[in-house]
Amino acid sequence: MKYLVLLAVLVLGYAWWRSQRRAEAPPQNPPPPAAKPQDMVACAHCGVHLPRTEALTHGPRSYCCADHQQKDAR
Ligand SMILES: [Zn+2]
Repeated sequence: MKYLVLLAVLVLGYAWWRSQRRAEAPPQNPPPPAAKPQDMVACAHCGVHLPRTEALTHGPRSYCCADHQQKDAR
């Protein structure tokens, strides 16, 4: 029983030592930037730039809105 307590103290001490080391160590990876640079595309009709995720595509072309997509498709 005495050794069990000693073992528990050692394990807890080791865990505490590990957590202290982790807190002191500088972060290995720099935090990611708040906003990832987005892939921008230009509207094939009016040329306005917008994120690719918001653009409407028609084949290889991108458009800012459905109106320009339809006008260019004709
Ligand atoms: Zn447009």
